[in-house]
Order: sequence, then C-alpha cells, then structure tokens
Amino acid sequence: MTTFSDLGLNEILLRALSRENYHTPTPVQAQAIPALLQGRDLLGVAQTGTGKTAAFALPILHRLLADRRRAAPNTTRALILAPTRELATQIADSFRAYGQFFRPSVGVIVGGVSHRPQIDMLARGLDVLVATPGRLLDHIGSGRLKLAATEALVLDEADHMLDLGFIVPIRQIVAKLPKRRQTLLFSATMPREIAALADDMLHDPVKVSVTPAATTAERVAQHVYLVASNAKRDLLLELLGDREISRAIVFTRTKRGADRVAQHLESAGVGADAIHGNKSQSQRLRALDAFRKGRTRVLVATDIAARGIDVDGVSHVVNYELPEVAEAYVHRIGRTARAGAAGKAISLCDNGERPLLRAIEKLTRQTLECTDRRSPDARHDEGEPIRRAPAPHRNGAQHPRRDGQRPTAKRPGAPNGQRRRANGGARHKQAGRPQA
Ligand code: AMP
Repeated sequence: MTTFSDLGLNEILLRALSRENYHTPTPVQAQAIPALLQGRDLLGVAQTGTGKTAAFALPILHRLLADRRRAAPNTTRALILAPTRELATQIADSFRAYGQFFRPSVGVIVGGVSHRPQIDMLARGLDVLVATPGRLLDHIGSGRLKLAATEALVLDEADHMLDLGFIVPIRQIVAKLPKRRQTLLFSATMPREIAALADDMLHDPVKVSVTPAATTAERVAQHVYLVASNAKRDLLLELLGDREISRAIVFTRTKRGADRVAQHLESAGVGADAIHGNKSQSQRLRALDAFRKGRTRVLVATDIAARGIDVDGVSHVVNYELPEVAEAYVHRIGRTARAGAAGKAISLCDNGERPLLRAIEKLTRQTLECTDRRSPDARHDEGEPIRRAPAPHRNGAQHPRRDGQRPTAKRPGAPNGQRRRANGGARHKQAGRPQA
C-alpha cells in the first residue's frame, strides 16, 4: 500500500500528517500528489470527502519548503479560489495544519467582513492566500494584491463556482496571473462551462477522477420515508429520538425553512442551530463550532451554506426536503461517511417531491429503500388509487413499483409500514434498517 513518504513529500509535512493521524493517502492523494510534485497541471474530478484538500495543499506546501523565500508585500505565492466563506476558511485551516512545523503565512479573503484587516494582511505578503472571487477582485482592483509573481493557482469546487455565477470573476482573476504557473482545477461534476474553463486554464493536465457520483452514494446507507409534507416535522422529531443519531445535518431547501426547522427542534428540546446565507459570518462560525464540538446535535442547513462544511463524525444526514438538483443530493449525503467512515442518510419525501426522488435514483443509479408513512387517507388524497390486490408478474413475482407502495414481503423486525422494494433491497443491502 502507498504511504505518504512513498509519494516523495518533504519530511516536515510527513511529521504533520502523522500528527493529524493521516496514515494512508486517499486515492485522490495517491494519484495527484506525485504528478503535482513534478509540476504538472491537474484536472481533478473529486468531491468533498475524498481528501482533495490535502491532495492540492501538500504539494503546494512542499514547493514552499523547497524554496523558502519570503513573499513580497502585496503578493501571494499560491492562490486558492473557493466558492464559499466556510470552504475558504476550512482550506486555510488545512494548510495551517499540514504546515504546522514550518508555519507558512496563510491568509483568507472573503466577503462580509471588514476590508481593513485584509488590507493589512495583504501588505505583509503571503505564502498561501485562500479567497472567494468577489472580494479578491476588489483587492486586485485597488492594487492591494498583485498576482504577477503567483506560482500556483487552485480552483476548488469549480462547478459550485459556476452555480454561484463566479465564472467571469474567475476569468478576470486568472488573466492577472503569470502564464508560467502551476494550475489545478477540482470539480465534483464537469458541466460544459467548466470543461471549457479547464481547457483555457490548464496546460497538458494530469486527469484524476475519483468518486463518480454513484460511488459516494453507495457508501452511505440510505433510506427514504414517504410522508405527507405536514407530517415531516413530527417524523423528524421521531427519528431524532434515536440516540444512534449522534450528530446530524438536516437539509432544507430554503433559509426560512432552515430557521423554522431549527426552531421547532429547539422548542422540542433537541439542540439545533440553523446555518444559511442570511446569517452573519460570526453566527455561522459559532454554529459550526458548537456543532463540531458536540454542543449542538443538529445543524439545519441549506445546500449553499453546507457545501464546504467539513465536520468529522456526522452520523446522519437528513434530507428534510429533497434538493431541486439531484447532484446536490450526492453532495449532501457526502457530509456523512467522510474519509471512509460509515454514514447514514434519511430522506423525507412528500408526494410533490416524487419526481426529485426519481431524478436522484437515476443519477446515483440505485433504487432507494422506502418506508411508507402516509396514512391511507393521505395516499388517497394525493391522487393514488385505493390499493388493489397485486397482479402477479408474468414470472410469478410481483411488479416492482417505483413508488414503493405495493405491499411486498414485510421484513422481519421491520417497523409497521416498512416495506422493501422488490428491485432495490438486494442490491443495496448496506442500506440496512431505517433509522426510525
Ligand atoms: P476533503 O475531501 O479534503 O474535504 O477531506 C475530507 C476529510 O478527510 C477531512 O476531514 C480530512 O481531514 C480527512 N482526510 C483527508 N485525507 C486524509 C487521509 N489521508 N487520512 C485520513 N483523513 C484524511
């Protein structure tokens, strides 16, 4: 098995990795690091949870160690662009952790906080700058940051940058960098615009692809509850009654929804905090810190706010509402089962969300196990026919129904109403029992 020292990393970094309890490189690290140490550009198809941050941070730190000159004022030797404040902060923390034995200067530039400390920080010059594109452009525009001497550029979560409308700002930033540089682009998915950006930015890149959407999805035990939308709150509380759920992220589609769910949980005595774009930076950091330290058991989040959250030991992800875009489901459930750990995802799906569920199943190429928690009346109100006796399939088996309502054999020990889909259970044994 490959070890970090096999990859050729500087001894000072190996010491930090061992301190951080990293013993074996993850696949993206094993593939990317040797090529990056040779100075190659890289196109990485990898999502959060694969260890991609160390895959780009370690070779950059190795480069800084090999040539320890100080960065000139108002310059940075390496620039990392990230879509959100949280992700930028976490990337910077990773650089500091891996660089703990030589202490490179690492700075963060994000919006929503005052300019002055950032201006002072840039004036000193940085080894590594992690930034979101908008605020960075302000500093470039006012001459506080010059990129002509930057040696390495990383674009992290490029597809998310695209979703947030950052492609033009990114192109403006890239135009300020020297042609001779090392460039890395990471993206969980490769939409056309990102492929075009990669084409323009990267020179003969090494291509590393780990965790296609389906792979993460298969590592996480997943279960769906079919439930009327007005019964979701009670079901969520019931599920959280299970102490096996030690640390959960609950996803909602809207900021208001996140606040409402968090308030509902709090009023029922479940420690919960909401995190979304309307919260100030300090509120978000406080909520994350409380969650990370186990003071709050549940973090209720919107997709954008949660994208960069890197908290180990999330036992469960609950999709209180299914995401509009199926890819977001994969990102959400990737918050659990990080770095190879086991994790569980529970989705509450009302009738209107059924098309979203089908899109998720198509993307992840799996059929999710369902428990039907709707009352017979609700099923009828939702336009379904009163259940008839199942017609036998031509080969004698029952028709597998995609909506999971046909009564198939009840599994031993399964709670009332829990049924296994004829075509889903066998393939997804690891989905296990629902967490009710
Ligand atoms: P990332 O995909 O960069 O967000 O990393 C996901 C998580 O895996 C983070 O909590 C890292 O600290 C952790 N991690 C990354 N690489 C390793 C490794 N080689 N061994 C153990 N944990 C790791």
